[in-house]
Amino acid sequence: MRYDVAVIGGGPSGAVAAAILAKAGLSTVLVERNLDNVKPCGGAIPLGLIEEFSIPSDLVEKKLSRMRARSPKGRMIDMNMPNGYVGMVRREKFDKYLRAEAARAGAVIMEGLVKTITPSGDGFRITTLNDKVPALRVRKIIGADGANSKTAEELRFPPNELKVIAMQQRFHYTPAIEKFRDIVEIWFDGEVSPDFYGWIFPKADHLAIGTGTEDNRHNIKALQKRFVEKIGITDKPYLDEAAKIPMKPRKSFTSENAILVGDAAGLVTPANGEGIFFAMRSGKLGAEAMIDHFRNKAPLANYERKFRKLYAPIFFGLEVLQAVYYRNDRLRESFVAICADDDVQRITFDSYLYKKMVPAPWRVQMKIFSKNIVHLIKGR
Ligand SMILES: Cc1cc2nc3c(=O)[nH]c(=O)nc-3n(C[C@H](O)[C@H](O)[C@H](O)COP(=O)(O)OP(=O)(O)OC[C@H]3O[C@@H](n4cnc5c(N)ncnc54)[C@H](O)[C@@H]3O)c2cc1C
Repeated sequence: MRYDVAVIGGGPSGAVAAAILAKAGLSTVLVERNLDNVKPCGGAIPLGLIEEFSIPSDLVEKKLSRMRARSPKGRMIDMNMPNGYVGMVRREKFDKYLRAEAARAGAVIMEGLVKTITPSGDGFRITTLNDKVPALRVRKIIGADGANSKTAEELRFPPNELKVIAMQQRFHYTPAIEKFRDIVEIWFDGEVSPDFYGWIFPKADHLAIGTGTEDNRHNIKALQKRFVEKIGITDKPYLDEAAKIPMKPRKSFTSENAILVGDAAGLVTPANGEGIFFAMRSGKLGAEAMIDHFRNKAPLANYERKFRKLYAPIFFGLEVLQAVYYRNDRLRESFVAICADDDVQRITFDSYLYKKMVPAPWRVQMKIFSKNIVHLIKGR
């Protein structure tokens, strides 16, 4: 049999794409290298995503409306989200659920590590390591296979440029870390990360603590060790995990017969490293463009155009924020200071929760701009 579409990779981007394609009646196969995969991830997702994709509440282990930013000098700014929350999921459960939804919609799910993708007639031939899955014949491809995408390599897409390496450790709750149970804590501290940030994310039965860096002169394990020491944890983690985060869209992520979605396309926002929302949104937009292509011969490039139109301003804004404030501790100190402003908090949370850039009134913009200048000059 020849499938209409093969989705390579069964993380959030691939699972969402496969479900939408199958629901629309396209014959869809999803190939995932490991159906028990535990993707290294903080699992923080915004309320807007939970609503849009109707994520069942038992998957959302925590709904947190309190967040704390900590500066290099230890200054703490507490922030509240009166109109929403950050949801905490566990990827081993979350990805399984999304794949089950794809199967329920009619997608065929197969386990195998894709090894080669070769053009064949007006489609492709796909093989897996050790032929775990018999060679597949497909018409179109969605590459959803993460930061080191084999699909992108085989189909010669431009490279994934910017890769943060991030590490996370999981700790069971003990009396010493109970205080973190109901708050998201973010550390802007050069000793923890010279160019990104450290996070403490509470889950139902553990804390996920991690950090990242773009700079390969820094040893991620040493940064993580220092972070854990600074928090004051002496217990051993029960799980260590690490992976790359591609925080810059590829120069192009569509071709005539294939598209890339999620991390494979480089769709993680700079500054905050948020990728699950953009993975699921790009999976959805990519699948919709694919359906339009099959039904109306619309070009697949419509997908990339739409994604960029919707989200390029957010990617640009966060890239500037990271370039300006994450360079040294003096700038990080100013950044945390500006977070104390109520309007900054409101704008940040409104845009995080629903990914909409709502322009603030002119008066508010001027106030934030002048406060920024004052904090940058004072360095606090
Ligand atoms: C430490 C860390 C913490 C993070 N924390 C957060 C967070 O709190 N919130 C957030 O929004 N984002 C976070 N991210 C980013 C987020 O994890 C990713 O953006 C998201 O997982 C992207 O989803 P995806 O489906 O595109 O790719 P992935 O989740 O990477 O899924 C790709 C899938 O493809 C499979 N695969 C790979 N190669 C092949 C192959 N050759 N053949 C078949 N299958 C293959 C893999 O097994 C995997 O299941 C974090 C990332 C890291 C590394």
